Amino acid sequence: MVHHQCHLTIEKQIDLFCPAPGLHYLCIDRTNHTIRNMKLNTLSIATLAITLAFGSTACNNSGNEQQEKPLPVATAICEGVSQLEIDSVTTLFTLRDNAKPTTQPNRLFYGKDNKDSAKVEQLSPGGTVPSSIHAFLVKKDNKLALFDTGVGSEKGGTLLARLDSVGYAPENIDYLILTHMHGDHIGGMLRGDSAVFTRAEIYIPQIEYQYWATQSSANGQLATKTVEAYGERVHLFSLTDTTALPLGIRAMAAVGHTPGHTTYRVSGTRLLIAGDLMHGYDLQKQDMNISPSYDINPEQAAESRKFYFQFARNKHMVIAGMHLPGNGVLIETE
Ligand SMILES: [Zn+2]
Repeated sequence: MVHHQCHLTIEKQIDLFCPAPGLHYLCIDRTNHTIRNMKLNTLSIATLAITLAFGSTACNNSGNEQQEKPLPVATAICEGVSQLEIDSVTTLFTLRDNAKPTTQPNRLFYGKDNKDSAKVEQLSPGGTVPSSIHAFLVKKDNKLALFDTGVGSEKGGTLLARLDSVGYAPENIDYLILTHMHGDHIGGMLRGDSAVFTRAEIYIPQIEYQYWATQSSANGQLATKTVEAYGERVHLFSLTDTTALPLGIRAMAAVGHTPGHTTYRVSGTRLLIAGDLMHGYDLQKQDMNISPSYDINPEQAAESRKFYFQFARNKHMVIAGMHLPGNGVLIETE
């Protein structure tokens, strides 16, 4: 459980995934999906970082002042954890909830009545798609904001160990902000019936909670039980309220995956917390109309996916997605 030996120690080996032209994984620990393996010492990691940063920036000719700054670069800290300095006051930690890199069957993307099965098989002939479950910790102005919580330790989630590996305990979290209320995002909020994050203020899109509160399903019951456990610390906010969130964080509706699925922009930075816009990046990047069975409204989900990936591309943002492979972050360039 305790991983203090990892604290701020760069792993000696990272697996470098070479993506398609224009796509830059920032830092990769996807041992099951390696095209090129390299043993890198600290110096060569720095060289790689500079190459990625300036290589990406060189693609941008828009003249936007923000885009002229070098792109942030990820440092692998230990298994399942990496760190990006987004700007001088904002740090992102990626925290993988699943113990090991994993894949999912491509049939999850066949669509209603298997309408996309031939296309999916053609685009993912191996039959599986890399995936992961991540939470993201943002440290800004010496406050800690956690985005989502994984499945929970009772279901094998390792979020708390990952958090510990960067020196934090659940009680250190100031703000917990949810992209939506599926079990793999809120499962880590409770241990039994008790709140895991004993001090955090909780922010949930009101439209998302209102939906789950009407559902008698196991997920609906979990959502209701979780909100009750956190009591007065829960803030249900309207997506039109631009001042609802702390640290200058802005919520942006990205409906489709769930009725209140939400992305977040940490304002003044290039960071986009993308939630569940993507579940099988390697497959869906080839055709963003492909939706997994997890999307409650597949057509809306596809529209949100296309919109926010283009939005991030235009602004050269770091996309932090809860189910992106590797360490959960990437930058797409044109
Ligand atoms: Zn999810």
